[in-house]
Amino acid sequence: MPVKINYHLCKGCKACYTECPADVIGWDDEKAIPYIAYPDECWHCGVCKLECPEGAMIHTLPPQCWIDINKRFISMLGRKGI
Ligand code: SF4
Ligand code: SF4
Repeated sequence: MPVKINYHLCKGCKACYTECPADVIGWDDEKAIPYIAYPDECWHCGVCKLECPEGAMIHTLPPQCWIDINKRFISMLGRKGI
């Protein structure tokens, strides 16, 4: 799972849920907390981590995965040199 939520830190502000561009994060109305609804759809953009005011979003990919993902993304944009 690429992203996890630290429920000890989450204050239920909904920022991750509303800002995730891929709708990966769901919202549990009853508990008023987010959950990772579609982990396979995550494209590792990091928006949820940036938007979380409590530092509760955890990305679990090792650093080499981020490097590989960024290389692929940049090559899709047609840039070279990385
Ligand atoms: S990293 Fe991006 S796509 Fe993945 S859950 Fe966070 S905001 Fe959504
Ligand atoms: S942005 Fe952070 S504090 Fe707000 S609901 Fe998501 S995990 Fe919880």
